[in-house]
Amino acid sequence: MRLVVLPGDGIGPEITAATVAILTLVNDALALGLRFETHEVGLARLRRDGTTLPDEVLDAARAADGIVVGPASTAEYPPRAEGGINLSAELRRALDLFANIRPARSREGVASWGRTPIDLVIVRENTEGFYADRNMHLGSGEFMPTPDLALSVRKVTAEGSRRIARTAFELARTRRRKVTAVHKVNVLRVSEGLFLREVRAVAAAHPDVAYGEQLVDSMAAWLVRDAARFDVVVTTNMFGDILSDEASELAGGLGLAASINAGDAHCMAQAQHGSAPDIAGRGLANPTSLVLSAALLLRWLARTRGADRCAVAAWAIEDAVDAVLREPARRTRDLGGPLGTAAFTHGLEEELRGRLAGRA
Ligand code: NAD
Repeated sequence: MRLVVLPGDGIGPEITAATVAILTLVNDALALGLRFETHEVGLARLRRDGTTLPDEVLDAARAADGIVVGPASTAEYPPRAEGGINLSAELRRALDLFANIRPARSREGVASWGRTPIDLVIVRENTEGFYADRNMHLGSGEFMPTPDLALSVRKVTAEGSRRIARTAFELARTRRRKVTAVHKVNVLRVSEGLFLREVRAVAAAHPDVAYGEQLVDSMAAWLVRDAARFDVVVTTNMFGDILSDEASELAGGLGLAASINAGDAHCMAQAQHGSAPDIAGRGLANPTSLVLSAALLLRWLARTRGADRCAVAAWAIEDAVDAVLREPARRTRDLGGPLGTAAFTHGLEEELRGRLAGRA
């Protein structure tokens, strides 16, 4: 299986190198048959070739079994006409990665901020909604008819809602069998009404999964008050973006927040956080978010490619991360520990070797 690695900007090269080291270790120990292929993207590529994402890289990503992408300094990108292609948006759109799956789980020994323990997954629609740069066939979903009037178009389709709902219910069957749809139907009666109509139809086809609904504003409060009541949360693009950051922060911090963007044919591991330009190149970044995202990608490969050993590798990585994070002396500085990226990754490799010894 071929994995395309796109290091990205800022801390991207540091955390993707750490992630590839972890993937290489499980690949060797469990004979997963992974091959890595790295392509330069982002600001470095823009300087070299005039674009942050050349067509040939997009083609390589399309032909791969999986993608590992580092964060991009999108705020520094020039307009698209000058080569500044938003990597994340382009890959999600071009490869139809319609499901953004973001787990948030409190861990023993890591301070979490909510009133109850958290162990949930936010399943966020990834290709429509308010995201003006990807919700139109041509042109942008945002425009200014006059200098003093700006408008944004929000897109919700029956098929988009149906497929994200199916993803959520199938996921719930592997967990605690509970789905909560988060919406704002009291204000956006038509578009949220369509979303809920489709989710309810999928819920009716999954009678073994408990189903509930929650307004997005009260959901933000419930996450703080009693996140333990939620298992799988399904929602539209922007609500999912915001709520998943809240949930991850409550669970211990964005630096631990895993995420995949998945479609029927492709899957991309991508950290939830950005390119952290303030610490880039200093060996301080915490690679956990991308490492755990890669573990989610391994689970996706296990399911879609029948590669069972990838599921063993994912379990081993997640378990080793939990063990390392349990000890304050083995953490990176963002979590109050003393370590930089290299020493943290080394500790994680040691922990993993212990788990994998004799399993190949
Ligand atoms: P950020 O997530 O990059 O950083 C916020 C804070 O968290 C910073 O202090 C940073 O040092 C810290 N931080 C983030 N990740 C960390 C890690 N792995 N280890 C240790 N500390 C970490 O958010 P920002 O500063 O708002 O954005 C910076 C750039 O990233 C912008 O150009 C933005 O557009 C871009 N961005 C990209 C993505 C993506 O590619 N998926 C997502 C969000 C933001």
